[in-house]
Amino acid sequence: MVRLAPAANGQGVFAERAYAAGEVILVFTGEELTTAEADRRGVRHHCLDIGPGRQLFVDPPARFLNHSCDPNAGLRDAVTLAAVRAIAEGEEISFDYSTCVPDPSWTLECRCGAPSCRGVVAAWPALDAETKRRLLALRIVPAWLSNL
Ligand SMILES: [Zn+2]
Repeated sequence: MVRLAPAANGQGVFAERAYAAGEVILVFTGEELTTAEADRRGVRHHCLDIGPGRQLFVDPPARFLNHSCDPNAGLRDAVTLAAVRAIAEGEEISFDYSTCVPDPSWTLECRCGAPSCRGVVAAWPALDAETKRRLLALRIVPAWLSNL
């Protein structure tokens, strides 16, 4: 129960109802591609890493989920997004992109506005130990990535 709407940074995904902490919000669906195929087709920016060299070309609206350094949702496994705290109806849903990117050369400039904003978001392998500990404690890092 989510919808696409204008957000601070282009489009975003918004809750159409309230969610309790821990509740599943959505399961990502889409076409499975190899990373090479996603690059060749120019769709990598719409993909979610779901394993080493594996991409999901995510169907809308989940394709438009934005990053936050203080997210209200997170990945329970490679494709399941759950609330990490209570989410109000109408609130934008976000997750931490560091919890799905294995490519250590990847970065994203962030202006999410959270007091804990990291400024430059890095891929999981490039995170400092403290940030990794914090994200693991929230249980929002899929096993395929945390076990790399
Ligand atoms: Zn940020």
